[in-house]
Amino acid sequence: MSHTIPIVPIKATPAVDGLGCHAGKDAMLEAAASAGKSEVLNQYAADYPKGPHDQPQSMCPAFGSLRVGLRMRRTATILSGSACCVYGLTFTSHFYGARRSVGYVPFNSETLVTGKLFEDIREAVHAQADPAKLDAIVIINLCVPTASGVPLQLLPPSINGVRVIGIDVPGFGVPTHAEAKDVLAGAMLRYARQEVMAGPVPAPRQARSGKPTITLLGEMFPADPMSIAQMIAPMELAVGTVVPTREWRELYAALDGSAVAAIHPFYTASIREFEAAGRPIVGSAPVGIDGTHDWLGAIGQATGVAQPLIDKARNQALAALRAVLAKQRIKGRITLSGYEGSELLVARWLVECGADLRYVGSACPATPWNAHDAAWLAAKGVHVQFRASLEQDLAAVREFKPQLAIGTTPVVQVAKEAAIPSLYFTNLISARPLMGAAAAGSLVQVINGAMGNQARFDTMNEFFGEVGKADQAGVWSELPQEHPEFRKDMKRQREKQAKKRAAQEAIGS
Ligand code: SF4
Repeated sequence: MSHTIPIVPIKATPAVDGLGCHAGKDAMLEAAASAGKSEVLNQYAADYPKGPHDQPQSMCPAFGSLRVGLRMRRTATILSGSACCVYGLTFTSHFYGARRSVGYVPFNSETLVTGKLFEDIREAVHAQADPAKLDAIVIINLCVPTASGVPLQLLPPSINGVRVIGIDVPGFGVPTHAEAKDVLAGAMLRYARQEVMAGPVPAPRQARSGKPTITLLGEMFPADPMSIAQMIAPMELAVGTVVPTREWRELYAALDGSAVAAIHPFYTASIREFEAAGRPIVGSAPVGIDGTHDWLGAIGQATGVAQPLIDKARNQALAALRAVLAKQRIKGRITLSGYEGSELLVARWLVECGADLRYVGSACPATPWNAHDAAWLAAKGVHVQFRASLEQDLAAVREFKPQLAIGTTPVVQVAKEAAIPSLYFTNLISARPLMGAAAAGSLVQVINGAMGNQARFDTMNEFFGEVGKADQAGVWSELPQEHPEFRKDMKRQREKQAKKRAAQEAIGS
């Protein structure tokens, strides 16, 4: 028998479908708190601190959770949110090669405020829960359902043996899509840990090595775990599971590792689960000579490896690195920014390869797991900016006038307009191997190749001159004329509208 869960309507009920990342996060936070979501939002505020700078400007955070769910075998992922958000999220997930359908429970103002949306979600979960096909179903509340208090925690923990994981991933509570990966990975690890504590669980599909394993935390290029495996083999350690996992039962193997390498440093909720399972955590990563030396030492100590074996692993890995770095160098000034969380690791490589790196901005926060990298970079004279905003990234490009700007789409766009060679961090840098000597070699090639394009930029600049810039962009039959009076008129109209809106809101509140 179905019953209706009372849901607190958002104050601005008539415009509820239109509330979102453009509506002002304070209004959304207030609505979510009064709708009973304070506990989860307070946890997010502790896990993903915003300061010292405000929320960065990157893609919808929920994409991180969606991507983690879609990459898992025998897992269905369902979104609950505004149609425009779901359209954008499904578009992006298929752009990035999801080969799975994204489930969607639509709503309107009525189903949202009466609680019928929750009933619809419950119905959808029951309809999907086929144990022959699925291990888990993930339901993600986007901004509006979170702000309205749609109570996913009231869903049954499992249906017909299929696990049900309900999470809130609002843009006003989770700052980046990187940290949203942690929201789902952490929720899954918590569930799996409780299963482990309750009794025997299935063994991983792949045979286990018999050696103590290191769980790797963070999405990485497929060759990277293999490179790390080679580096730690002399310490008689093996690489275990990479989290986020590709299958439910891998979660048990991840929890069973001897230590966890937080290669990506922003998985706060996941680390909480590993710590609850008694696993030591090691920050940073084996990048560059200093980084590899320190990381191998920290892994060895965390797992109780004898010093001679640590030295053996260091000698092997560092000899190969030195050989590559002696031959392949980067010459030139660089600024670097991104929102993947691996920016500091790339920055370390660049410095050790000889680049004159002036600035590294990450949309992710400072954590204990990237403190070592930040201190190392600062000691080399690099300005490290956590929770960097687009404005700070752009200011760095203007200030340092680099010969190569590595950054997010808008940074690259500005750099290219200024005839500065540039590379997208997400697609061209973070999606490549980063560990080991081979990774260093290929990174140097890409960077030097991009820097070598300066002459082409200059030629293009000279050829196009001032054509197509700013207001004069486009194809014109006559030379476009400036009309500053139009601008003034539009500005007056906008100010008038803003005053009218403010007066209406004052009457409504
Ligand atoms: S779910 Fe994402 S796209 Fe939709 S309003 Fe929230 S942050 Fe914006």
